[in-house]
Amino acid sequence: MSTDPAPKSDCIFCKVVAGEIPCFKIYEDDATLAFMDINPGNPGHCLVIPKNHAADAYSIDAEDFAAVARTCTKVAPAVRDVVSPDGINLVQANGEGAGQSVFHVHMHILPRRNDDNLLMNWGHKPGDMDEAKALGEKIAARIAE
Ligand code: AMP
Ligand code: ZN
Repeated sequence: MSTDPAPKSDCIFCKVVAGEIPCFKIYEDDATLAFMDINPGNPGHCLVIPKNHAADAYSIDAEDFAAVARTCTKVAPAVRDVVSPDGINLVQANGEGAGQSVFHVHMHILPRRNDDNLLMNWGHKPGDMDEAKALGEKIAARIAE
């Protein structure tokens, strides 16, 4: 399956990149954007996406995937420092069978607690947006230090 990297009018993450849908942005560079997940598995859960549209790891440009990984190396330590989790999973789903619900590549940066009992497909429960905004600001400030 190949994917057109042009912004897709029906892709919510392309709309986030374009500023047409609001987000709690925590980091941005030429190739990537990081923002808070609106249905966090745990507080501090955020996403890193390529700005170029690609549906999945099968079709993404290798440089864009590398850029996502580079951004994760900035964001994940900041999430660790702000949230002090027991651990962090970096998770990226490909296909509905893997739990993918948004078909624009995204790496979850998912703080974990020893006793959170999260499954690999942790479900989407609306989060506390005040908490997400506050944590997003702290993580962004930590990255900028
Ligand atoms: P996945 O199920 O792995 O495709 O993950 C998609 C993620 O995107 C879910 O964790 C959703 O909560 C999250 N999500 C969907 N729409 C938005 C949005 N507008 N802003 C932030 N996160 C979103
Ligand atoms: Zn897209």
